[in-house]
Amino acid sequence: MPPPARHPAKKYVDAHVHLRDLSGVGCAADAGIAAIRDAGSSASAEQGAPVGSGAHRAVLVVSSGWALYKKGGYGSAFGIPMEGKENFHDEILRLKSAGAGIIKIMASGMVSLRKRDSITPGGFDGDELALLVREARSVGLEVMAHANGEQAIIDCAEAGVRSVEHGFFMTDRALDVMARQNTFWTPTVGALARAADAAEPSNEIKAHVREVIRTHLEMIGKARALGVPLAIGTDCVLPHPRYRAIYDAELAYFAEAGLSLEAVQQLACENGARLLGIKTEGQAASSK
Ligand SMILES: [Zn+2]
Repeated sequence: MPPPARHPAKKYVDAHVHLRDLSGVGCAADAGIAAIRDAGSSASAEQGAPVGSGAHRAVLVVSSGWALYKKGGYGSAFGIPMEGKENFHDEILRLKSAGAGIIKIMASGMVSLRKRDSITPGGFDGDELALLVREARSVGLEVMAHANGEQAIIDCAEAGVRSVEHGFFMTDRALDVMARQNTFWTPTVGALARAADAAEPSNEIKAHVREVIRTHLEMIGKARALGVPLAIGTDCVLPHPRYRAIYDAELAYFAEAGLSLEAVQQLACENGARLLGIKTEGQAASSK
């Protein structure tokens, strides 16, 4: 399916990228993206000086700096391990002063490419999630949560995260909770397909990934019908030479999920801006 044409007057948002450095912002500008939300990197954590939130080269950036993940679980590529609840407060303060405009947490593992319908280990329990959201809000920040699998998604939505990222193995029950809690969903459809391609898996795994994506698109259609707010996120590490095409491919996935072209534009632009807490005119609003 060809990607939906972009509307020249609209400001497109990518609600889930990973910024390697400032050149990643230039890459977004070149691809015609007006605003991005950076889901963090471990390099930023090591340097303690991520690309901060704000306007860079006409691109509005809402950055998490780096992610918080449960020690021993998934997430070491994106952030720093958390051992117990005692450190949540200090780490969130440290992120805030490093320029974070959002707190990114890893609330589950990732979709396993090797084992059917399974998720790698990782994530916080319900009490920890609730505390992370409370601590973030106490410094004026919301939480974006990497979450795959029904329980992790429900726990995140109930804890009050602003958005569920990826949300593979979404279920009707999880969508109901998200609709009730008004939790955004950034389904990052293309991310799984690209991961499968990069891993050069067997034909059997490729068929499995195709099936997971088909179900994912079905759940996007259901989310739309239930009123769960959706956003476009590529999960691209920027800079990336094929970024523009990857963004447009993500738009095409939503059209494939049965959304009208107008609906795809609306969630790429207006919903994206609402999720990032920015005005569509392009000024930073509530992210600070
Ligand atoms: Zn990501």
